[in-house]
Amino acid sequence: MNQIAEARKQNRAALDEQAGKALLAEFGVAVPQSVMVAGADDAGQKTKSLKFPVVVKVMSPDILHKSDAGGVKVGLQSAAEVEGAIRAMMQQSAIAAARIDGFLVEEMAPPGQEMVIGGLRDPQFGPLVMVGLGGIFVEVLADVSFRICPITRLDAQEMLAELKGAAILKGARGRKAVSQDAIVDALLKVGGENGLLLRHAADIKEADINPLIVSDSGAVAVDARFILS
Ligand code: ADP
Ligand code: MG
Repeated sequence: MNQIAEARKQNRAALDEQAGKALLAEFGVAVPQSVMVAGADDAGQKTKSLKFPVVVKVMSPDILHKSDAGGVKVGLQSAAEVEGAIRAMMQQSAIAAARIDGFLVEEMAPPGQEMVIGGLRDPQFGPLVMVGLGGIFVEVLADVSFRICPITRLDAQEMLAELKGAAILKGARGRKAVSQDAIVDALLKVGGENGLLLRHAADIKEADINPLIVSDSGAVAVDARFILS
């Protein structure tokens, strides 16, 4: 709620990534440990509390797709690498031209399958929750499933089973199976009875957790965007 009130006060139409992740954490969805740094010079000091490897991301109200702008660097092993990544990012034209809030430095999520959880509002039925497999599955194949909120655990399980790519979660082609329970838990925290979408139905027009990285033991939301009504 704080995050939403704060964004409204600043006349923002959306929560920035940090605020979005704080909101998810309030509802029990795991997010990476992170710190915000102003630039390369304060990265050394501020990243001391983090476990490497880490990711650096540019935070800017002008940049929606950070990777497209050259604003995401994963797998950094030391504070020196973080500093170097920030310096390199600031040379990118899209970043040099943008208003910069700072750089988010966050721990890497354990490797796994990338999923997407979304939320939107139907004028008639209210909040809907969506799930899909990440990357080309959602972007090219539109392999997603939707339900009206609130969803039950059984609904969430059925949503996963409906995906055309469902077999991938069970470990196809030499990949490791991922925790479907962890995805179901995250779906309930977002779209369940006391979930984020219903609790903030008046304020949230659209939610996009992309990706939620699901390993064999858990799920971490590494990118989150909430558009306010
Ligand atoms: P974008 O704005 O481009 O969507 P993301 O924050 O989603 O930026 O980061 C791009 C990609 O980098 C993600 O899809 C994911 O593959 C990877 N990534 C980002 N953050 C993490 C993290 N904390 N741990 C592991 N991988 C990450
Ligand atoms: Mg993303």
